[in-house]
Amino acid sequence: MNKRLLVTGGAGYIGTHTLVELIENGFSPVVLDNFSNSCPESIRRVEEITGSKIEVFEGDICSSSDLAAVFDHAKATGEIFDAVIHFAGLKAVGESVAQPLRYYETNVGGTLALLKAMDTYGVRNIVFSSSATVYGVPIRLPYDEGHPISPTNPYGWTKAISERVLEDWANTGEGRSAVCLRYFNPIGAHPSGRIGEDPRDTPNNLFPFITQVAVGKRPFLSVFGNDYDTVDGTGVRDYVHVVDLACGHVKAVEFGFTSEGFSAFNLGTGKGTSVLELKHAFEQATQAAVRHEFKARRPGDIAAAFASVQLAEQSLGWRAKKSIDDMCIDGWRWQSSNPDGYTAFAESADQRNT
Ligand code: NAD
Ligand code: UDP
Repeated sequence: MNKRLLVTGGAGYIGTHTLVELIENGFSPVVLDNFSNSCPESIRRVEEITGSKIEVFEGDICSSSDLAAVFDHAKATGEIFDAVIHFAGLKAVGESVAQPLRYYETNVGGTLALLKAMDTYGVRNIVFSSSATVYGVPIRLPYDEGHPISPTNPYGWTKAISERVLEDWANTGEGRSAVCLRYFNPIGAHPSGRIGEDPRDTPNNLFPFITQVAVGKRPFLSVFGNDYDTVDGTGVRDYVHVVDLACGHVKAVEFGFTSEGFSAFNLGTGKGTSVLELKHAFEQATQAAVRHEFKARRPGDIAAAFASVQLAEQSLGWRAKKSIDDMCIDGWRWQSSNPDGYTAFAESADQRNT
C-alpha cells in the first residue's frame, strides 16, 4: 500500500511543490494547514497537476485538538501516517524580530505539539523544514553541516531550537527518526506555471521582488548594498529551484524509513550567485526588464552564503539539477501567468459559491 504522509503547511510555497513530487513518487499525502499564508486554491492546483484528490484539514499545528482530529481521522480509516513532513510555520525574519513570542509560539510550540501528537499515535518519522539561517555569520564557506549553529535573529533561533528538540526526541532509542533539511534560497516554480510563490504583502525575498518589478507591480528593485567583498559588491546566496528542493523531501522521507536518530542536511546547489548576477540572468532568460537602484545594506545581512552539498549527495542520493536559467524561466512563467498569485482565482471561486 502507498505510504501515507501528513504534510503540515502543505498549501504553502514549498509544500505544494513537494506534494506534487510525493504524489508522483507514489506517496499519499494528507495536508494540515490553517491557510494563514496560503489558500485552498493552491491545493486545487496541485490536484490539477497530479490528477489526484488530496485530503485537507484546516487547522492549527499549535492546537492539540486540531492535531487530534487529523490523527484520529487517520486512525479511524485504519491508516495512521507512516511519516510527517513539517513545513507549517512563520518565516519572515524581520517580523520575527518585531514579534519574537509569536514566532517561538508557532514554530517551536507547533513543533512540540506535533511531536506530542505523533507520540500519542505512534508515528516515529519526521522531516523538518529547517533553514541555512541556523548557521548565522559564516566562520567558513561553504557551510557544511558541522558548521557552528549561531543564528542572528529570532526566526533562525526558532529553527535551531526546533532542531534541538527533534534531536533529543529522536535520540531516545525508540526507533524514531528526525531528518532536518536546511534550505538555502528556494526560488522558481513548477514548470507548469500553475503553482508558485505567492507572497501576501511586499515580498521580503529577492526573487519574488524581481518578478514583481518585471510584471509591473513595483517600480524598481532596491539592491541592498554594493560594497560587499563579493564578485560585484552585491550579496551572494545559494539559489535552489523549488522543484529540486521538493525532490529532496522525497529522498529525505525515504532516508527516514531506513535510519534511526537525528540527521541534518543542507539543500542547496553549492553555487553562489550575486544579486546583480541573478537580476541579469533573469533579464536574459525572460527578456523582461528589471530596473534597480542601489540602497544601503540591509541590517543583519551577510555578504555571502552557500552550501556544502556533499552530505546530502552521499546520504540521500540527492543533488540539485536545475540551473539559474531554469529557476528564472519557471519563476517568470508562474508570475506572468498569475500576476496576482492565487488571490484572483480564490475570490472568483468564493463568488461562485455565494
Ligand atoms: P509558506 O508560508 O508558503 O508555507 C507555510 C504554510 O504553513 C502556509 O500554507 C501557512 O498557511 C501554513 N501555516 C503557518 N502557520 C501555521 C499554523 N500555525 N498551523 C497550520 N499551518 C500553518 O512558506 P514556505 O516558503 O513554503 O516555507 C515552508 C517552511 O520552510 C517554513 O517552515 C519555512 O520557515 C521554511 N523555510 C523556507 C524558506 C524559504 O525561503 N521559503 C527557507 C528556509 C526555510
Ligand atoms: N536583496 C536585495 N533586495 C531585495 C531583497 C533582497 O538586494 O529587495 C538581497 C539581500 O540583501 C541578499 C540577497 O538579495 O543579499 C538575498 O536576499 P533574500 O532575502 O532573498 O535571502 P536571505 O538574505 O534571507 O538569504
